[in-house]
Amino acid sequence: MLQIETILCRAGIMDNYAYLLIDEASRISAIIDPSEAAPIIKRCQELNTRPSYILNTHHHFDHTDSNLELKQLYHAQVVGHSADAHRIPGLDIALSDGDTFRLGDSQAQIISVDGHTIGHILWYFAQDKALFTGDMLFNLCVGGLFEGNISQMWHSVQKIKALPDDTLFYPGHEYTLHGAQEALYFSHNSPDVLAYLRLAQNRLQQGLPAGPFTLGEEKKCNPYLSADSEAEFARRLGA
Ligand code: ZN
Ligand code: FE
Repeated sequence: MLQIETILCRAGIMDNYAYLLIDEASRISAIIDPSEAAPIIKRCQELNTRPSYILNTHHHFDHTDSNLELKQLYHAQVVGHSADAHRIPGLDIALSDGDTFRLGDSQAQIISVDGHTIGHILWYFAQDKALFTGDMLFNLCVGGLFEGNISQMWHSVQKIKALPDDTLFYPGHEYTLHGAQEALYFSHNSPDVLAYLRLAQNRLQQGLPAGPFTLGEEKKCNPYLSADSEAEFARRLGA
């Protein structure tokens, strides 16, 4: 089993989330997308763990900015997509679509999702029903198209929709309220979306992340996942 700790980084700037993953059997740990070292180091101290790995979803600086500092501090290995080998700082282990990665007794599958960038990946821990989506999927919205095109993003969305509904997903930013207006508009204020937002706002008011939500909830409420054709997906992205 995997213990998952959410760590808010760059708070109030871009509200990035890094994640500390601890494999409970072996106590081997990893950090996903370290954008700010201080809050991560603090949490690792509190939990008495020294991460062996840094796992990146994509190359953008707000996901990799602390790679080198944490790599040096913990003697950690940096893991990312082979397509990003030239632009992820300190990359040691390059993986490709469909590869698996072991964290102690836990195991992740690498799912390639071009769109936000070319070389973006999801980290999918199927046994733990946990999916780390970086800037591909946020609560109620998807990442901007910096490098890929709409067709690539649509194809990537289908890969997410194929995963089980009871998977919890963990995004790279706290963007839930950014997505709220579009979700309400395209769903015509559906009860599902209203319930989703009530729960999200309740957690945010307590100083917690809005999520995690399940992919089942997201498939119903996220207007980019609920779009039923590429044309409709494109229309919603352009709105
Ligand atoms: Zn990004
Ligand atoms: Fe980002």
